[in-house]
Amino acid sequence: MSAAVATPAPLDVERIRADFPILSQRINGHPLAYLDNGASSQRPRAVIDAERRYAEEMHANVHRGVHTLSQRATDAFEAARERVRRFVNARSTREIIFTRGTTESINLVAHSFVRPRVRAGDEILITHLEHHANIVPWQLACEATGAVLRVAPIDERGAVDAAELAGLISERTRLVAVAHVSNALGTVLPVRDIIARAHARGVPVLVDGAQAAPHLALDLQALDADFYAFSGHKVYGPDGIGVLYGREALLESMPPWQGGGDMILAVRFDGTTYNQLPFKFEAGTPHISGAVGLAAALDYVSALGLERIAAWEHQLLEYATERLSAIDGLRIIGTARDKASLVSFVVAGVHPHDLGTILDQQGIAIRTGHHCAMPAIERFGVPATARASFAFYNTRAEIDRLAAAVESARAMFR
Ligand code: PLP
Repeated sequence: MSAAVATPAPLDVERIRADFPILSQRINGHPLAYLDNGASSQRPRAVIDAERRYAEEMHANVHRGVHTLSQRATDAFEAARERVRRFVNARSTREIIFTRGTTESINLVAHSFVRPRVRAGDEILITHLEHHANIVPWQLACEATGAVLRVAPIDERGAVDAAELAGLISERTRLVAVAHVSNALGTVLPVRDIIARAHARGVPVLVDGAQAAPHLALDLQALDADFYAFSGHKVYGPDGIGVLYGREALLESMPPWQGGGDMILAVRFDGTTYNQLPFKFEAGTPHISGAVGLAAALDYVSALGLERIAAWEHQLLEYATERLSAIDGLRIIGTARDKASLVSFVVAGVHPHDLGTILDQQGIAIRTGHHCAMPAIERFGVPATARASFAFYNTRAEIDRLAAAVESARAMFR
């Protein structure tokens, strides 16, 4: 077929913006330009409405009640799980565990999968660009067990070479844990290749998908990851809800992490029988309204189409890269060939925090600091960067405002 058929129809960004009530605000007297989507993205009215409707018409505790509201809440919660399953193309809802977010998902794997399996001298392999959520849980597991954390390098562009990473896999490697997309540099990692190489050595792989789920179409069966984690609040859904996907056979083999209600079938003082998947890993009352909101968010992004989203965000990334690179004294940190929707940068003579404050005065929200990825940022010889991260509702005009504001800040400090 012709290339034109494969090209997704462009998004109607102005119409989409109208779906996000928060975006029409003025901040410090200026229209809000929200360019901090990597930290948390905004919610469309469909998500806000779904959560409200749940609270007004369905709320009760799940899984335990015979009364109508409890049934409704259970149905809504389990329908949300099925929605997540379809979004990531998992085989079964038994593989979808609701958590508080990516951080909790990774900690669950560290506690239930890694700690019982590793011995002193075993290895966990990560990369240099990981978010602290994909570093510290492994450091804690290493401290507790005597295992060793090994770190695959990144190059001067912020890219990870799959072959180089695979070269660090040894007989003692028990898990490879890598980001799908770097939150500090924007790098898209060659996760498919990394997974294939790790599996060839019999090593399971966890993928931190916090920054990928909002931007890339996911097919976890094709990707073949063993664990995949992401957060609701970065994918246009509520905060406090996230997902751990786990391969069913691995989840079956793991002990529960937290104990309490819902994760059991029977409790006796001489022993407890755990519930089946996925409930075995969901102790206590879950974030039911959060799951409902997350499902609405996934409906929303799926209706727009991840391919169309990726195409528009790629244009934004290219435009921002071009506009910002043209600014005298500005250095982009993270220039990998394959990047997703964010630009990290430093400006000579202007501290990133000052820049963030000056931009906020003009209604432009960016993030400054180490982005919870200190090793990645320090690899480039800087303690902090400014980061503009884009969503499908951002516009070229907002990038023009960003570039103009950075230029005037540079002039102020010259
Ligand atoms: N991993 C990456 C790559 C991230 O960008 C983030 C958040 O910024 C996290 C993990 C942690 O996500 P959460 O704070 O939602 O648990």
